Amino acid sequence: MQEVQWVGNVSSWQAFYPKARVKGSLFGARIRYIQEFAAPSALAALRADLPEDSRVHLDDKPLPFKWYPLTRMVDFDVGIIRHLMGGDPSRMRGFGSQIAQYDLNRVFRLVLRVAVSPALALRSISSIYQAYFDPGDLRFTDVGPREGQLRLHESAMPAYLCEHGYSGFVDELLRRTGAPHARCEHTTCAHRGDAGCVWKCTW
Ligand SMILES: [Zn+2]
Repeated sequence: MQEVQWVGNVSSWQAFYPKARVKGSLFGARIRYIQEFAAPSALAALRADLPEDSRVHLDDKPLPFKWYPLTRMVDFDVGIIRHLMGGDPSRMRGFGSQIAQYDLNRVFRLVLRVAVSPALALRSISSIYQAYFDPGDLRFTDVGPREGQLRLHESAMPAYLCEHGYSGFVDELLRRTGAPHARCEHTTCAHRGDAGCVWKCTW
């Protein structure tokens, strides 16, 4: 099934997935996106697809500071990709950038008080990651004056988020710290059989 490819089926991910949690601010951005962009027919189709324990969040919106099972957010993302993005998971990249904008105040509270450059923002990526995902850690390594690497430890993301959504989120973060042409690419991925997940950032 297409959905399995979007989410991922490698064993390292499947071992991790049922235990993972996500912050309500990130989950809630899905509901906001649906309210903003779903035509009535798409909303009805998406609602019908959702498992019961996820569907309740269409009406009972996730609270920004509460943790939720990652599986529920993924249920929504699969519905969004299928019914609002024409089955194209690469459109999650723009959505990731949009979420960084939605959640800018929160991101900025964590980062921009101290980070006035892309390199400084990336040095705070570990605390940003942990504000949204549990468990795991995302660590930054300096590669050059305008290049850095992010590596995910003791965690995994669904494939569409690794490949597209999180890259878009980091794009926006870098752009907001004064690098309008910054780009984040997912260069190695557990879902492609690599040992782990790494993003290359240039600005
Ligand atoms: Zn990955």
